[in-house]
Amino acid sequence: MKTIRVRFAPSPTGPLHIGGVRTALYNYLFARKHGGKFILRIEDTDQNRYVEGAEDYIRQSLNWLGLSPDEGPVQGGDYGPYRQSERKHLYKEYAEKLIEAGHAYYAFDSAEELQQMREDKEKEDVHSAKYDQSTRLDMKNSLSLSAEETDQLLMDCPHTVVRLKVPEGETISFDDKVRKRVSFNSSELDDKVILKADGMPTYHLANIVDDHLMEISHVIRGEEWLSSTAHHILMYRFLGWEPPVFTHLPLLLKPSGKGKLSKRDGSKFGFPVFPMEWDAGDEKYSGFKEEGYDPAALVNFLVLLGWHPSDDTEILDKEIMAELFELGQIVKSGARFDIEKALWFNQQYIMSFEDDYILEQIKDHVPESIFSRYDESFLKELIRLMKPRARLYGEFYTEARYLYEMPDSYDEKQVVKRISSEVMDVLEDLKNMVLDSTEFNAESLSAVIKGHLSENALKMGVYLPLIRIMMCGAMTGPDLFEIFALLGKASVIERWDRALEAFRSYL
Ligand code: GLU
Repeated sequence: MKTIRVRFAPSPTGPLHIGGVRTALYNYLFARKHGGKFILRIEDTDQNRYVEGAEDYIRQSLNWLGLSPDEGPVQGGDYGPYRQSERKHLYKEYAEKLIEAGHAYYAFDSAEELQQMREDKEKEDVHSAKYDQSTRLDMKNSLSLSAEETDQLLMDCPHTVVRLKVPEGETISFDDKVRKRVSFNSSELDDKVILKADGMPTYHLANIVDDHLMEISHVIRGEEWLSSTAHHILMYRFLGWEPPVFTHLPLLLKPSGKGKLSKRDGSKFGFPVFPMEWDAGDEKYSGFKEEGYDPAALVNFLVLLGWHPSDDTEILDKEIMAELFELGQIVKSGARFDIEKALWFNQQYIMSFEDDYILEQIKDHVPESIFSRYDESFLKELIRLMKPRARLYGEFYTEARYLYEMPDSYDEKQVVKRISSEVMDVLEDLKNMVLDSTEFNAESLSAVIKGHLSENALKMGVYLPLIRIMMCGAMTGPDLFEIFALLGKASVIERWDRALEAFRSYL
């Protein structure tokens, strides 16, 4: 059997969109499943759209997500270089081969002439006119001109390009793992430019030449490339190469399910669409990393946007994913990007992590001063208590402020509902019991307080909420007695005194 070799082939035109991350992930899993190779190839032939820093960003994002390639611009490998701009010398030869065999031709039209053609066609009521079999002989190219004129222009013309000569009236078909049999009518395809005037190949030529030379067995990419595949199939045939197996992934849809998820949706709906922060100069986009997602949770969320295992298990680690992953199980319909689901996954992962690991992770998400003010054992205990409640790493701070600092206000409505001078007296007694207790752990404190309440037929529903408000400011937080144990006697008593003082004004 042929070795499995797949590639993720982003263009460094900006940050990696979350849809691109899913493409990388599916490639990665497919390679892992079959003991194959996952390759990163940088498709940077379009120098006009090149964005400084984008390649580094892509690499760092893949590393953060644990999707590091086996071969790539940094790792190297036997099929390099892995940046198309460094492979420029390779492509021309294939363009020439196609020309010699009559499957491609030189075109000399200027931008104005191309524009003129479109306008003329529009006058004839042909909309979105293309450079194709119906128009190519009216244009300036090596098919419409004589050999002498062509030779002359080859020496003089500054904007000579090579175009693919798409045959007329043919059905071009291929099998796609998701879409099954896909067919295109060649009469509807344009004669795509394959080599530009600057000698650089376009995406189409570079992509197939590299997939061939790098011995790519399977192409797994976004659905937006489906229509280009018809051109690619033609070129494979003309060059006598066997095409790889194609899989076109469904679109990621907006949270509403209507329309494609775009990078603007992130700021619009208030969630990240990039894995890591991206500084676009005029605008900074926060990423999943900075928002406090764990990469394992993000990967788990993403893998299910378009694929799921047969038994619908949701929590999957990367090894299991790789074991279960099947291209044939990828769905055709677009996958709705539901950020609530991403949060749910993150929470599930947080709950399953060791406290030590979480302590490491929250370092970038909580104020630095926390680490000088509190020792590790306090923070670990706080993590243990907050684990079932924090959905994002930052929430170990934002949702737990009252565990670090005394409350500066109390839920007045809830206090007023329950307070009276008799209740104040009982709270005072309870405080003294807490103060006197020799053991200071959750069980013993619970026994002291609950024991006193039940022995004296005092209502738990009055006192326990009030004590919670004394500690936390509001009726929120983990188990009350665990909070006592975490805060320690001195802090509990201080909070108690302060609260009693404040409660007096509600009487
Ligand atoms: N360079 C293309 C992109 O930016 C790659 C498409 C493909 O995988 O063939 O997505």
